[in-house]
Amino acid sequence: MPSFVIVEKCDGCKALDRTACQYICPNDLMVLDQEKMKAWNQEPDQCWECFNCVKICPQQAIEIRHYSDFTPLGSSTIPLRGTDSIMWTIKFRDGKTMKRFKFPIRTTAEGSIDVYKGKPEADLSKIKEPGFFNNPARAN
Ligand code: SF4
Ligand code: SF4
Repeated sequence: MPSFVIVEKCDGCKALDRTACQYICPNDLMVLDQEKMKAWNQEPDQCWECFNCVKICPQQAIEIRHYSDFTPLGSSTIPLRGTDSIMWTIKFRDGKTMKRFKFPIRTTAEGSIDVYKGKPEADLSKIKEPGFFNNPARAN
């Protein structure tokens, strides 16, 4: 089932230009009500349930309910993302049983990856040519 925002927890990412959930959603589903400073999923039918927005939300204000055919109603799966690990809290449907699992998520410092390192600048004059600007040079 799609993501949904717990409005009491959402602070609109403190009025930043773009909220964290808007930034991360691969399907551009999250929008912000500028007056109320609350985000919402504008098209739940298109949600992939990828959990990206759930993981990135600094307020833990987004949840995804699992389908009841494989996860009992009333249970929940809540991630808490740190800089180097993520903690998943699984709450069982009895409301009492909890399990937590912590996994490392990276081996490099946050923000340290330079994805274009060693690659040439893009040359827009070649934009209509086949191939990618950062393809390795081919031997003819
Ligand atoms: S990331 Fe969380 S706190 Fe920020 S706008 Fe989205 S739901 Fe609200
Ligand atoms: S679960 Fe994924 S697809 Fe759905 S709203 Fe969140 S980020 Fe977008």
